[in-house]
Amino acid sequence: MTQAGPRPSLRPAAADRWRAVRGLGHLLVLALVVAGVAAVLTQPSAPPIDEPLPATTWFPESHLEPVEDYQEPRDLVLVAGVVVRLGLAAAVALSRPGRELVARLAERLAPWAAAGVVLAGAALALDLLLLPLSFWSGYVHDGAWGLRTQGLAGWVRDWLVTHPPTWLGAGLAGAVGWALAGRFPRGWPPLLALLGAVTVGVLALAYPLVLQPLEHRTAPLEDGPTRDAVDAVVAAAGAEEIEAVLVADASRRTTRQNAFVSGLGATRQIVLYDTLVAARPPEEIAAVVAHEVAHHQHRDIARGAITAAAAIAVGIYALAGILVWRTRRGAQRHPADPRAAGVVAGLVLVALVVSTPVEAGLSRRMEAAADWGALHLTEDPGGYERVKVEMALANLGRPDPPAWRHLWSGTHPTRVERLTMAEVWCERYGAADPSGAVSGAARAPQVRLAEGSQSPQAAEQAVLAPPQPPVRVHRTPPALR
Ligand SMILES: [Zn+2]
Repeated sequence: MTQAGPRPSLRPAAADRWRAVRGLGHLLVLALVVAGVAAVLTQPSAPPIDEPLPATTWFPESHLEPVEDYQEPRDLVLVAGVVVRLGLAAAVALSRPGRELVARLAERLAPWAAAGVVLAGAALALDLLLLPLSFWSGYVHDGAWGLRTQGLAGWVRDWLVTHPPTWLGAGLAGAVGWALAGRFPRGWPPLLALLGAVTVGVLALAYPLVLQPLEHRTAPLEDGPTRDAVDAVVAAAGAEEIEAVLVADASRRTTRQNAFVSGLGATRQIVLYDTLVAARPPEEIAAVVAHEVAHHQHRDIARGAITAAAAIAVGIYALAGILVWRTRRGAQRHPADPRAAGVVAGLVLVALVVSTPVEAGLSRRMEAAADWGALHLTEDPGGYERVKVEMALANLGRPDPPAWRHLWSGTHPTRVERLTMAEVWCERYGAADPSGAVSGAARAPQVRLAEGSQSPQAAEQAVLAPPQPPVRVHRTPPALR
């Protein structure tokens, strides 16, 4: 019925050969983990922002209050999402119906097929359980606040197109994992870890070609002042190998403004939302592109891929240890017993939840370094601050989110931290600011510079800078319309 831990009696020479191959596999995995740790330790960093300036430095009260009304319900959605993940983990791994369902599948199907079905089913069940939350958040709530531009059909189409790759991926991982564990009862952990690393590398490389088009259609950024400003940043960074600066059709879905970098080597590209390109002047788009170019200079995609591959390898070895331990306790017949697929699905769900704040912390370091790099590239803290403020206003972003929320899932430094960083940059390097004013969008920092004991040059520029109009708040809550 199962490929129950086959232990073919090998001749001594063959057994030695297999032991050597396994040893080599373990060594390669060790090298991968060391590379993952090195990728984190050698990550460029930005100066720490211990005491960010208050949000009112850049944002009027008329933004700060409504933004809480928009964001607070989303905090609840986040917490509910964690509860759903942990609840599903318990249901599939521990509950009687969950265990019986997995056992029935294990009786009827080949072990690899049963495991594939269980893991794909868990991924599908998770997305279906989260569907009410994502529908409320992405369709109802964003719609009420004017952030959504698509209708129900478009929203459903997006959901149907972007989620199946995860189900497929989970199913494939389960099927391949159990097939390897059945065929190589002792050698599967290094094999699966190395296969995982190759998969992560291929996904990082192929993402812009395979997965990204499911979400965005892109076209090259057209010639004009914005293209010129972007090309100037890319040239200043000596990053001419970035040939593709693309504009994505985000406006068919949202009014949010954003940008990202994706791909490796020949597939590398910078993608700007069309909402951003339409709304902001060239020097601000240049500041956004500078952040993405800094990610490229810091090799953040490759760094992230190596770190992820190392983390997956550690997870696979931990899983192997747990499966052996369960076998010794008699909880399963052998480590490759497909009846354990439910437990594995549960453990993966818990690992995804527990790793969220770790991942967010690593991401924040990376993003802070990219901001710092962007300031060096453009030497335009004014443009940098303006676009950060305007994007926060357009996206209804919290300038200074609650600490728990930020520590749990904040992938970027808070906006007040990112804006304060521009002030720190000004203080360190003076304000070689082509836009003509020290921190053009900021109001209070100018006062601070004028009053404080900064460089006379900075103080002079601060005094000369004309008072800025209050920052516009783009949106009001539905009740106030
Ligand atoms: Zn970034």
